[in-house]
Amino acid sequence: MGNDAKNKDGQSRTRNILPGTQFHRIRRTVQSICFVIFVLLPLFDVMRVDLPRQRFYFFGAELYINEFAIIFLTMMFVWILVAAGAMIYGRFWCGYLCPQMIFSEAADGLEKRINRMVNRKFSNLGPGARRALSVALFSAVLLPGSIFVTFVFVSYFVPPLDLFHRLLTIDMRTAAGITGASVTLVTVLDFAFLRTRFCTAICPYGYLQNMLADKHTLLVHFQEDSSGKCILCQKCVRACPMGIDIRRSSHQLECTHCAECIDACSEVLGKMGRGSMIHYAWGDVEQNFSGKNAWYRRMGLRDGKRVAILVLLLIYATGLSIAINLRQAVMVRVMPDRITLYTRGDDGLIHNRFRILASNRGKTDTKVTFSLAGLPAGRILGMDDGVALKPGETLQREFDIAADATQISPGINHMTIVAHVVPTQKDDVFAENFIAPMEGAPATAPAGKQQ
Ligand code: SF4
Ligand code: SF4
Repeated sequence: MGNDAKNKDGQSRTRNILPGTQFHRIRRTVQSICFVIFVLLPLFDVMRVDLPRQRFYFFGAELYINEFAIIFLTMMFVWILVAAGAMIYGRFWCGYLCPQMIFSEAADGLEKRINRMVNRKFSNLGPGARRALSVALFSAVLLPGSIFVTFVFVSYFVPPLDLFHRLLTIDMRTAAGITGASVTLVTVLDFAFLRTRFCTAICPYGYLQNMLADKHTLLVHFQEDSSGKCILCQKCVRACPMGIDIRRSSHQLECTHCAECIDACSEVLGKMGRGSMIHYAWGDVEQNFSGKNAWYRRMGLRDGKRVAILVLLLIYATGLSIAINLRQAVMVRVMPDRITLYTRGDDGLIHNRFRILASNRGKTDTKVTFSLAGLPAGRILGMDDGVALKPGETLQREFDIAADATQISPGINHMTIVAHVVPTQKDDVFAENFIAPMEGAPATAPAGKQQ
C-alpha cells in the first residue's frame, strides 16, 4: 500500500501509516478471534452477570451483586477503557471488534454467496423463483444462526446450562424463556433487514466515539499527493460496507474506520505502480503526515486530556486489582438483635441476642466458628459446631451470648466476637457490646428502655 507515498514536500508518510496493506484479512482474523472470545466469555464464566443467582463473574472471581465496590470499579474501568480506546484509536471497536458489525458483515457475505450460488446453479429458473429460493436458503441459515447468537448473548445473563435446558423445552412461560424468544426475534430482524444500518440509526456508541475523538485520533484519511491524482474509479465507494465516499471527509458519522477502502484503493493503484491514497493516520494534522513528529506526538500522548484518561485508567485498574485481591471468599457479618436489649434466661444468666449472616463466595466447603474475647464471664450458646457453608451458600443464624450478671458491669460491657474461617484460617473481628441490667432493672428490657 502507500507506505511509500510522498506528501507535497516529497517527504515520506511511511511513519504515520499503520503497516500492512491487507486490512481486510487482518480484520477477518481479529473478528474471528473476537467471535471465539464472545462465545467463550460466558461459557467459562470469564465475564458474565448471573441474574437469577445475583452473581457477577469477572476473570475467575465470583462476585456477589452486593459487592458494590468491585462491581463499581469494574464498570468504571471498562467505561474508561472504552473512552480511552475511542479517544486514541477512534472507531477501532466498530471496525474490528463489535459483534453487531461482525454478524452484519457475515450476514451480508452469506447473502451474496447464496445469491451467486443460486444464480449459477439455477440459471434455468426465472428471476422471481431464484430470488424466492435465495431468500428461503438465507432464512434457513439465518434462523439457527440467530438462535445461536441469541443463546450466547443471553448466556451473559443466565447460566448457559439452564438456558440450554429452556431452549430444548421451548420455554415460553418464564421471564428468561420469553426474553430469549424476544431477543431471537430482534436478532433475526436485525440481521435480515438492519445490519450496518443499526450502526448509524440506532447505536449510541458511534455518536459517543465521534464526541470523544480529537485532532490526534486514529482515522481513515484520503489525500491526493505528488504521485498522482485520484483516478475516480469509485472502487473505494463500492468496497465500503457503509456505502460512503471517504474522499468527502475523514469525519463522516457512518465511517467505522474498517479500512476496506484502503485495500480497494491499494488494489487499483497498485496495478499502476502507485500506493493507496487512503491511509490510516493519527488525525488529519498536516504535520503528522510529514513523519517528522515522534510517534507519541502523532498519537497526541502529550495532550493533557489523554494523559488524564490514561492516569484515570491506571488508577481504576489498580483499585480493581487491590479490591479483588483483598476480597474474602467467606463473608461474615455479626449484628446485635436489639429488639430486647437483654433477657434473663432460665439458667439465671443475662442473655444478649445476636444474628450472623455468613456467605461462602468461594469454591470449597467452609466452616465458620465463633469465640468471645473481652468478656471472661460470657459464653456463646448453641454455636459450638460453628456454621458449615457449601460453595455459594448464604446462611443466617441467631445465637445468644450469656453472662452471669454478678461477674460483669451493669450496663454496657465491651467485648469482641471473633469469627474464625476454616480452611482459610482468616479471622473476622467484630467489636460488640454486651448489655447487662442496671441495679434493680426488670428481667427483660425492650430496646430504648434500658434501665
Ligand atoms: S469509508 Fe472506508 S474506513 Fe470508512 S467505513 Fe467505508 S470502507 Fe470503512
Ligand atoms: S479507489 Fe482510490 S483511486 Fe479509486 S476512486 Fe477511490 S481513492 Fe480514487
